[in-house]
Amino acid sequence: EGGGIEVEELRSAFNVMIDHIEQSLVARSAAEQRLRQFVADASHELRTPLTSIRGYADLFAYAAANEPAERERHLGRMREEAGRMSLLLDDLLLLARLDGAEAPLRPEPVDLVEIAVAAADGFQAARSDHPFTLEVEPSSLPLVGDPMRLRQVLDNLLTNAAVHTDPGTPVTLRLRAEPGWAVAEIADGGPGISPENQAKVFDRFYRVDDSRTRGSGGTGLGLSVVHSLVTAHGGAVSLQSQPGATVFTVRLPLSAGQV
Ligand code: ADP
Repeated sequence: EGGGIEVEELRSAFNVMIDHIEQSLVARSAAEQRLRQFVADASHELRTPLTSIRGYADLFAYAAANEPAERERHLGRMREEAGRMSLLLDDLLLLARLDGAEAPLRPEPVDLVEIAVAAADGFQAARSDHPFTLEVEPSSLPLVGDPMRLRQVLDNLLTNAAVHTDPGTPVTLRLRAEPGWAVAEIADGGPGISPENQAKVFDRFYRVDDSRTRGSGGTGLGLSVVHSLVTAHGGAVSLQSQPGATVFTVRLPLSAGQV
């Protein structure tokens, strides 16, 4: 009978082991499935500008040599599409690196207020068709981060606030401090993002309205890049949206010793 108990114990230990193996196989195949989907989506997205470039190259070839203006136009479109491809590849490469073991960040002591002021200047210069307000409560928000990447986070969110809203829609960048956190809010008065889309917009390649947003030249990766970069900095990004009021909130840990 003692032997019987041993067999039972062995059996249950064995079952626990099998369960673990099964679970890790399921998790692994889900991860593989996500990776396969990502590669498929990336290929599809890269094919779109590539197909355009091919088309314009044909048009260029067919355009009579004595129509330089026509040829110049086709060349311009080729350059544009090549530029789109290269932005897409930059984002893809960054996401792939952020997925890897070591985040590709060059952290140093920075002041989020300085970075935000520079981002605000850039936004105003590039998007004069949107009334813009910069609201800064604290005089400085010291933290450790990669200044280029933090700028990219703010740029992506500001660009979205302009690109996915009508011209004339107000955009606000607000900076404040919470205990232990530097907080940046990017707000716009645009149409908003419906509740069922709010979780999905951070997914890679997800666009709420494909036809409308594809024309805007975005990659569909902007918010995934924001999410990955903010997370890699130990922070978090959240979204609140209703028609006429959309706010993306980025929280980043303040340097130790700061309130
Ligand atoms: P995209 O390159 O299309 O901007 P993102 O990942 O930055 O890709 O955004 C994903 C989608 O979320 C956009 O295509 C758009 O539909 C929606 N979106 C993002 N920001 C806003 C905003 N401020 N207002 C309304 N919709 C937005």
